[in-house]
Amino acid sequence: MTYQSPISPGYSWYEDTVGERPEYAPLDGDVSTDVVIVGGGFTGLSAAVHLAKAGTNVVLIEAHRFGDGASGRNGGQLGTGQRAGAEELEAEYGFERAKALFDLAEEAKAHLLEFASVNGIDIDFRPGHLNVSHRKRDLPEYLEHAEAMRTRFNYPHITYMDAAETAERMGSTHYYGGVRDTGTGHIHPLKLVVGTARVAAEAGARLFERTKATGIATNGGKVTVTTATGTITAQKCLLAIDAYAGDLEQETASHIMPIGSFIGATVPLGDDSPVLPGGESVSDSRFVVRYFRRVKTGELLFGGREIYGVKDPNDIHIHIRRQFSEIYPELKDIRITHGWGGYVGITMPRKPFVREVMPNVISAGGYSGHGVMLSNFVGKLYAETVAGNRDRLKLFEELKIPAFPGGTRFRAPLLFLALNWYALRDRI
Ligand SMILES: Cc1cc2nc3c(=O)[nH]c(=O)nc-3n(C[C@H](O)[C@H](O)[C@H](O)COP(=O)(O)OP(=O)(O)OC[C@H]3O[C@@H](n4cnc5c(N)ncnc54)[C@H](O)[C@@H]3O)c2cc1C
Repeated sequence: MTYQSPISPGYSWYEDTVGERPEYAPLDGDVSTDVVIVGGGFTGLSAAVHLAKAGTNVVLIEAHRFGDGASGRNGGQLGTGQRAGAEELEAEYGFERAKALFDLAEEAKAHLLEFASVNGIDIDFRPGHLNVSHRKRDLPEYLEHAEAMRTRFNYPHITYMDAAETAERMGSTHYYGGVRDTGTGHIHPLKLVVGTARVAAEAGARLFERTKATGIATNGGKVTVTTATGTITAQKCLLAIDAYAGDLEQETASHIMPIGSFIGATVPLGDDSPVLPGGESVSDSRFVVRYFRRVKTGELLFGGREIYGVKDPNDIHIHIRRQFSEIYPELKDIRITHGWGGYVGITMPRKPFVREVMPNVISAGGYSGHGVMLSNFVGKLYAETVAGNRDRLKLFEELKIPAFPGGTRFRAPLLFLALNWYALRDRI
């Protein structure tokens, strides 16, 4: 029978096309190690690779299977820079730090592609990204952004697109204009998860699936993580549980909020289809962002965040069809083969949450929809930190991330109201 993630809705196109997905046995008994990692998505697996390669003893436990959270099920778009725009970061933190954060993200992008290439992980990379506007009045901001990237952030790969160029590259006249980024692209995320786990195991990390942390305690500088089948005692701990944190650790839960996001895959569109002839990925300007791409084999993978609770995968088909038919009316009757979703960890200011939440316990997540390259890199920065250099992780640790108002009990209804208001503004 086909395995399906018990913590995220629907069976994904990625699960269907990933190829071999080796299983790792659950933990059985008590172990001690230098570092224990809780969570087997990009953040945790990448940290495991870099720690093990540096000769650190590392144990990683994942409650379900690697990639069952966001990392194996996302839109696969790498993006550029941080989720918060470079200009926004500059206004809050000044040019120097905004540039340092931008450069770090560029390094993250290069690192991801190099890591996959060096380790023989075929991640189905396709280059190019279009960011397009559904409102004419926002176009001057796009022009200014392309200019700022080129002249001040030393990133010449973003160019402005007028309505005609946008229509040509999109294969649709739905949008008014936008920017094209030739310095980024999109990938098959679950292939990266599977490959990263393999590299971590080969480097000597001890990896366990179906092993849920039920408690975490610190005592005399040691960290103890409890599971149903054994305890792990370590010098240090990385919590890489992001939107799936539950109530394991309160600081993480109060700063990172899970938001459902859903994707549908169509049958291959065929070589004569006008949709995205250049193979770029797309994100649009709606607050409830639509993100989509044509993968190498021709299928359209179309994502949109649905605030109004999706109950089962069949609902996903209905919402996704409505959304892509607005952009590509000719696809309104196309067959949708897969509908799935996952939970994006967002923070109040949409910037990553990286913090020492207990002595020797660092929690990392809240990449706010921009985690494909950042989470992998934060894993590497965590390994750097364990090796004694915390300077680069500090760039994230020093970001001001307030907790969500309303505590873990009332924040969801409060956020629901706020998000509905912004979603309404998309239509104004
Ligand atoms: C539908 C969707 C689309 C997205 N699209 C994009 C995109 O196009 N571009 C982009 O940059 N980002 C995107 N994101 C965000 C991106 O996927 C995440 O930022 C990134 O994968 C986070 O990785 P992570 O390892 O921190 O968390 P996750 O991959 O969510 O991993 C956390 C893991 O922790 C495990 N866990 C939780 N609690 C415990 C416990 N007690 N014990 C053991 N294990 C536990 C979970 O089972 C889970 O596997 C998207 C996310 C979703 C859901």
